[in-house]
Amino acid sequence: MLPFNHIPFTHSQKQILQTIKKDLFMWNECSFEQLYPQGFEEKYSGKQLAKKVFEHYTTEHKKLQNKQNDYSDFKSVTYTPRKYSFTTKQKEGFGLGSCPVASESTRCCNLLTLDAVESCGFDCSYCSIQSFYNQDTIVFDKNFAKKLENLELDEHEIYHIGTGQSSDSLMWGNREGVLDALFTFAKKYPNVILEFKTKSSNIEYFLEHEVPKNIIVTWSLNTQTIIDNEEHLTASLEKRIQSARALADIGILVGFHFHPIVVYQNYLDEYKEIYDSLLNTFSPDEVVLISMGTLTFIKPVMKKLRERGMKSKILQMPFEQIAGKQSYPLEIKKEMFQHCYESFQPWHGKVYFYMCMEDHSLWEECFGYSYASNNQMEEMMKMSYMQKINTIKSSI
Ligand code: SF4
Repeated sequence: MLPFNHIPFTHSQKQILQTIKKDLFMWNECSFEQLYPQGFEEKYSGKQLAKKVFEHYTTEHKKLQNKQNDYSDFKSVTYTPRKYSFTTKQKEGFGLGSCPVASESTRCCNLLTLDAVESCGFDCSYCSIQSFYNQDTIVFDKNFAKKLENLELDEHEIYHIGTGQSSDSLMWGNREGVLDALFTFAKKYPNVILEFKTKSSNIEYFLEHEVPKNIIVTWSLNTQTIIDNEEHLTASLEKRIQSARALADIGILVGFHFHPIVVYQNYLDEYKEIYDSLLNTFSPDEVVLISMGTLTFIKPVMKKLRERGMKSKILQMPFEQIAGKQSYPLEIKKEMFQHCYESFQPWHGKVYFYMCMEDHSLWEECFGYSYASNNQMEEMMKMSYMQKINTIKSSI
């Protein structure tokens, strides 16, 4: 409810003011009431007062939105873990399909996604899964292993399949035999590049079982500042890198996704520390990919996030509408992606680098090269991954 019913706002003004009120709470900035313009009631009345008060709030909201984020005042914020339950049921269909956010209007790798588990136990504020699935229930498919066993693939085709889109690939371990089924599938089809993507450190199953060489394990990495404030319940940065190191030690190809790179005070310095630690912790032969991306919101996710009323600064950013989604302006993206790519200069030509669902123009500007189509990007990516997989195989 707005704290001033006596002002005759229009219905749409009320809706926008409600959103501003939610944002101010989420951003942990001043309260909506504190922002109320003093002295306006003496100067204006009726519709004129409504117009002036509305303009004041939208202007102040824009200023706060464009202000560079600073998490130093977030230390006092406590996060209340959300509760969820598990269910195993007969699911319709199989959940193998094109990446749900892929599009021709951005440069994309045509990844195939396999929904081994539905919904995630981690709680990243910016995550789009929250608008796809009911977050309170983690769903396992009773017939997942059977369906995977019956899947017919063309043995002459190279497939790149990821399981980390509908849930975290490793956080559930081998619950309901999901990892048993996926390992059997990878063994049956050496022409499948099977990618497990995770923010966890739950690698026991990989340490205790023989891992097919066409399985790659990739970590989404972020600064500890963002992990603490926006990636709730996930493993720490250190634990993620240690887990990757442990798997690389037993010959499993690993990779790292910097997605989303988030802008806040001194963000480039904090990301640089991670880039440098990877260069010092891994050799390029062990790393199959480095990807980068940033915050990109569709309306349902922004609505869900505001409804949840959790403390987060993730929507406090200078938005621009790009390819039907809200994201940082291209200039800011260029800064963060150039910085990331240049920081890995020693690995250029030895590791596959890509930007995930980004504007075509950024490739030439940030990497100095670009692809003519998503199919060409897909081919180059698969070729690079398969070369590393075959190198590992021949070195055994
Ligand atoms: S580039 Fe990213 S969004 Fe596009 S298909 Fe690949 S994983 Fe999906």
